[in-house]
Amino acid sequence: MKTIAGLSILEWQGKHQLLNNLIQMDEVFWINPDYGTELDETIVQADHVKSAEDRLGRFADYIVEAFPETRTMQGIIESPLVEIPSMQKNMEKSYNVEITGKLLLKCDSHLPISGSIKARGGIYEVLKRAEEIAMKHGGLKQTDDYGILASDTYKELFSNYSIAVGSTGNLGMSIGIISAKLGFRVTVHMSGDAKQWKKDKLTSLGVIVKEYDDDYSKAVEEGRVEASLDPNCHFIDDEDSMDLFLGYATAAERLKNQLKHRSIRVDEEHPLFVYLPCGVGGGPGGITYGLKLAFGEHVHCFFAEPTHSPCMTIGLMTGLHDKVSVQEFGIDNKTEADGLAVGRPSGLVSGLMTAILSGSYTIEDKRLFELLGQMAETEGYYLEPSALAGAYGPVHLMSDPTGQKYLDDHKLLGKMNDATHIIWATGGSMVPKDMMEQYLAKR
Ligand SMILES: *Cc1c(COP(=O)(O)O)cnc(C)c1O
Repeated sequence: MKTIAGLSILEWQGKHQLLNNLIQMDEVFWINPDYGTELDETIVQADHVKSAEDRLGRFADYIVEAFPETRTMQGIIESPLVEIPSMQKNMEKSYNVEITGKLLLKCDSHLPISGSIKARGGIYEVLKRAEEIAMKHGGLKQTDDYGILASDTYKELFSNYSIAVGSTGNLGMSIGIISAKLGFRVTVHMSGDAKQWKKDKLTSLGVIVKEYDDDYSKAVEEGRVEASLDPNCHFIDDEDSMDLFLGYATAAERLKNQLKHRSIRVDEEHPLFVYLPCGVGGGPGGITYGLKLAFGEHVHCFFAEPTHSPCMTIGLMTGLHDKVSVQEFGIDNKTEADGLAVGRPSGLVSGLMTAILSGSYTIEDKRLFELLGQMAETEGYYLEPSALAGAYGPVHLMSDPTGQKYLDDHKLLGKMNDATHIIWATGGSMVPKDMMEQYLAKR
């Protein structure tokens, strides 16, 4: 008989009630029973996040040089935080639920350079690599104006090195764009889900795109093997990269400042809820880690996954982390949310989330398109399907009995009028117009 870590599927279903619904590919809302322990700083520490922030600060002059559209932001790649009251009303009406508190959208969809959350981690890891090479072989000092890295001298230096990555699309976009700009040779291994326009865009920039007729894990594996044959090649390992994680984590301090500017408080009486779409976990995991450093027990983070790709939920629920894929439970990993089409979570991230993630939920593809249309209509934000997964979080939390129990257990029920909900919109501004029209027609 087929077993998973020694137990049959039936035995796993007996242990975890909700696993039955996940296997049926129904929408679920899951509260993490291990949530609430102190932040574990044995693997990542506040200092690591701080040094990533400092590194991005050093690169600001380079970013302005290389991407003049970032000049107004002084070379800091950051996205707007906006209130979406019309969407809030619309959701209350459409889903017959009261969403108390303020609803905001964090527009990573509109991050400069690559238009998705991957402009955080992906770009950070490539910059870190460039800094290492430039310091070791090009005489760069921390105190230099990093604008010099845009010169032909450094481009020539970087052309002796290569970068490789496996991706469902957006990570490849970020890594491809920044690596090509710096002068690296860069190869992106794309999974079958990756959209054609992303591959075309990269090819036009001189990026080598390799396509696989298989899912994301395969693209990563092929990339890893190929990169290992070349000592001058740096492989960006989306399943296991601390640098990606730290790049994402830097979002939290910046969000804290944005909230402060809006006079939005986060404390004992003003809880913050953040809903993050999750693929392999690096993006939402890094941000969650940063938010816990910034706000401690006053922030409550939830991951959102497609009903057909609930890899992180299953990894955490079973405690098997990256030792299990959704396919082993008969779930097909087929979703229109290409950024979330991942069958096996990052072991690094799921381990780190065990004690700090409040919970997670799944959402059907058809609802992603429903929300995509609503967001466009009510607020004028055009997002890609993956980016809408977070939008369903407040509905789940406020209407599901498990959500109410979570609020009760954490003494939050009486504080919801003063709560802030942030939907993390992870991508969309670079989607071509005709593609967006197809999305809008789907609801
Ligand atoms: C990659 C991606 C995510 C999830 O990030 P992971 O690090 O894979 O968990 C969410 N939304 C979009 C649009 C993405 O591209």
